[in-house]
Amino acid sequence: MILAREPNSKFVKIRCPKCKNEQITFGKSATIVKCLVCEKVLVEPTGGKSKIKARVLEVLE
Ligand SMILES: [Zn+2]
Repeated sequence: MILAREPNSKFVKIRCPKCKNEQITFGKSATIVKCLVCEKVLVEPTGGKSKIKARVLEVLE
C-alpha cells in the first residue's frame, strides 16, 4: 500500500516501497525525487505541491 501525503515544507524520511531503502528528502520538492538505490520515483511534483509515493517514516522539523 502506497501512502500519498502532502506534507508541509519539511524534510521527511521516506522508505522506498520497492527496495526498502530509506532516505531523507524535502517534503515540498519541485523536482522528481528518485530512490537512490533502485531509481523508483518516490516524490512527484504536482502543481506546486509534491506527491510522496513512498511510505513516510518520519517528518523532521
Ligand atoms: Zn528503491
